[in-house]
Amino acid sequence: MSDDRFFTPDHETFRKTVRDFVEKELAPHSEEWEERGGFPREVFKRFGELGILGIRYPQEYGGSALDYWYTVAYVEELCRSQMAGLNMSIMVQSDMATPVINDLGTDEQKREFLAPAIRGDKIAALGVSEPGAGSDVANLRTTARRVGGDYVINGAKTFITNGTRADFITLMVRTGGEGYGGISIVLFPTDVKGYTIGRALRKMGNHTSDTAELAFDDCKIPARYLLGEENMGFYYLMKNFQGERLVAALGGTQGAQLCWDETVKYTSERHAFGRPVAKFQTTRHLLADLLTQIEAGRRLAYHAADLYNRGVECTKEVSMAKLFCGEMAIHVVDRCLQLHGGYGYIEEYHICRAYRDMRLLTIGGGTSEIMKEIISKLSGL
Ligand SMILES: Cc1cc2nc3c(=O)[nH]c(=O)nc-3n(C[C@H](O)[C@H](O)[C@H](O)COP(=O)(O)OP(=O)(O)OC[C@H]3O[C@@H](n4cnc5c(N)ncnc54)[C@H](O)[C@@H]3O)c2cc1C
Repeated sequence: MSDDRFFTPDHETFRKTVRDFVEKELAPHSEEWEERGGFPREVFKRFGELGILGIRYPQEYGGSALDYWYTVAYVEELCRSQMAGLNMSIMVQSDMATPVINDLGTDEQKREFLAPAIRGDKIAALGVSEPGAGSDVANLRTTARRVGGDYVINGAKTFITNGTRADFITLMVRTGGEGYGGISIVLFPTDVKGYTIGRALRKMGNHTSDTAELAFDDCKIPARYLLGEENMGFYYLMKNFQGERLVAALGGTQGAQLCWDETVKYTSERHAFGRPVAKFQTTRHLLADLLTQIEAGRRLAYHAADLYNRGVECTKEVSMAKLFCGEMAIHVVDRCLQLHGGYGYIEEYHICRAYRDMRLLTIGGGTSEIMKEIISKLSGL
């Protein structure tokens, strides 16, 4: 969906490049990669070659130094892969694990971690969640103890996307006392002794992304891998979360739009009682209602994207977009599946997979309940 207030012809050219790539090189593999539960590592490299992993990053590290509307176009077109898991893996690389390196990293850190991530040579993961601390990030327990010129890391992470094959992790650790004031972010190369990848978690959906449990047992990394200042990590992460939540809102909305498009086509072709299902007034009204909700979500997400693009503080707007678009997309896909009847429940139809995949939208990257907490606090409640 294009909007000429935000998208110039250059954005549209870029959008077309991403769409062609996704439709020609990714979507045809969706069945096979879903079945296999993953996609080849080389796919990261292809994204890197097309300049998709460094859209907003400086050119000196291999990025393209473009604005946020290019990211919006990329995220929307990525949804055409029909593999929400692959999309999430790639967005972890481009918009979740690396923005904080660009914001805070030293030149040395950017050359060692950011530049190869932009090229697709190194796979990145974001390590926040722990077995005992998901929403309650300030309570995380993985420690990084300073010993001479090193940090020694002990603890465990869970639910980590790209976790089974990441080359480095943008890792949240406790360097200070209790609570949010004692947290730091370090860049953790995964070839360090004492690091183990535990179970790859079997999930309800998003099958093409890997999701792992990780363990750290006296893992020693050089202290120069600290990002920014010690004990400031919670604040950095809250800023980083805005980009993560915004791509979730944008992707969720576009995912809902694609399900709606599919459902219009399906109900126009499927006949019952002598006419296309789409001709029943209840169907037309339901589709009209869903389209209105998708458009409302898109407007909210674009509003947040506009503020974000202009560098205006927008935590409340991003939280609203994540909340509304996540809940909306789950509702839309549920109703679209209903309109497919029995075929909606059959794996051959994409809507079946989309239904499972979309369920993550109100959980990952901060739950709907946490979004409501943020919105209420920022509204003086
Ligand atoms: C497929 C998948 C991929 C993921 N990828 C990553 C990743 O790459 N990196 C990473 O770090 N994490 C990742 N996560 C973790 C995800 O961010 C967490 O699952 C999410 O933040 C929720 O945390 P939790 O699972 O511990 O739930 P909990 O925090 O235990 O929450 C349980 C329930 O309690 C509610 N709740 C919690 N606190 C409050 C409150 N104050 N008020 C009201 N209700 C509340 C929650 O909303 C939820 O409904 C992933 C998760 C999944 C499922």
